[in-house]
Amino acid sequence: MSIQQTLAMIKPDATARNITGKIIARIEEEGFRIVAMRKLKLSKEMAEAFYAVHKERPFYGDLTAFMSSGPIVALCLEREDAIAKWREVMGATNPEKAAEGTIRKLFALDMEKNSVHGSDAPETAAVEKAFFFNGIDFL
Ligand code: GDP
Repeated sequence: MSIQQTLAMIKPDATARNITGKIIARIEEEGFRIVAMRKLKLSKEMAEAFYAVHKERPFYGDLTAFMSSGPIVALCLEREDAIAKWREVMGATNPEKAAEGTIRKLFALDMEKNSVHGSDAPETAAVEKAFFFNGIDFL
C-alpha cells in the first residue's frame, strides 16, 4: 500500500469538551502527517452539503444540526494506507461496538456524537478534502 491522504474531522462534541489536542496527539502517535488543518464552524447548509450522501437517512436532520452546533477541526492526514488506518484508529460508528483503545471507544458520547469523522474511500477523500482545503493549504 502506498502513501495516501484522508480527510478527518474532530466533531463538535469533542471540541466542546476540550479534547481536540488529545485527538491530534493520537493522530501524530499513529504516524499520520498533518498536511492541512482548519478549525471552523459549519453552517447547517454546509453540514447538509458535506453529508449529502445521507440525505435519505432518518438521522440526516439530527446529524446536520449536531455538526453545525459548534466548531469542528478538519484535517488532511497522510501516511501509508491512510484511509483504512484512520478508520481503524477511529473505531466503529457506534461507540458501544468500537474496539478497545479506539478514539470512539475512548471519547464518543453516542452513535451520533462520536467525536471523529474519516473518509471511507479514495473518491470520497478527494471530494471531502476539496470541501475544506485548496492548493495553498496543503503543506
Ligand atoms: P461513519 O463512517 O462511521 O462516520 O458512519 P456513517 O457514514 O454511517 O454515518 C455518518 C455519521 O452519521 C456518523 O459518524 C454519526 O455521527 C451519524 N450517525 C450514523 N448513524 C446514526 C444514527 O443511527 N443516528 C444518528 N443520530 N446519527 C447517526
